[in-house]
Amino acid sequence: MTAHSAVRVDHAVSSGTFSLDGQTFDVDNNIWVVGDDSECVVIDAPHSVDDIMAVVGDRTVRAILLTHAHDDHCRVAPELRERVNGGSGAPILLHPDDKPLWELTHVRDGEGHLWDVDLFDGLEIAVAGTALRALHTPGHAPGAVCFHAPDLGCVFTGDTLFQGGPGATGRSYSDESLIKESIRARLFALPEDTVVHTGHGEDTTIGAEKASLG
Ligand SMILES: [Zn+2]
Repeated sequence: MTAHSAVRVDHAVSSGTFSLDGQTFDVDNNIWVVGDDSECVVIDAPHSVDDIMAVVGDRTVRAILLTHAHDDHCRVAPELRERVNGGSGAPILLHPDDKPLWELTHVRDGEGHLWDVDLFDGLEIAVAGTALRALHTPGHAPGAVCFHAPDLGCVFTGDTLFQGGPGATGRSYSDESLIKESIRARLFALPEDTVVHTGHGEDTTIGAEKASLG
């Protein structure tokens, strides 16, 4: 007898907008939920709490993990925190280097709109008898973090690595040489058959992206 039912990755897509540097774009974001039948963690909080709660169901949410603080990934995080676990909440985790981006969306006003726990490289988040390990991968954003799930053979990369290459670095707080360094040093160190669950669009693998980045 095991303490936990099978761990799985659940997914949905939520539509909305991304704004930065005075421009706004329509975007579809992936919602990722990792857990078993009784508990889970949510990776990123785009656009719609209802869309996220439809994936969570009635499970206990252990944490809300943010890959970075662009508004299309963190906009509804505080509202989600209020809704989960019957209103008793769950901690929002964010790397503190993304504070300037977070504050573009969630102004610090002393009313509980900050995140709760600082992410750092190597932090392990336990859920449903498994663990996700935080990899600090700056470049797309200064506090960009990927979450590696070794037991599941996958990594959640946010906007750091997509099918077809690195995430965008054309806007404020991004750095193209840094994102490539992060991908090469941290993500390409993972097994080649690791499935990459991205912030937008289709899955890929570490091996496929190694071949395309060169
Ligand atoms: Zn982004």
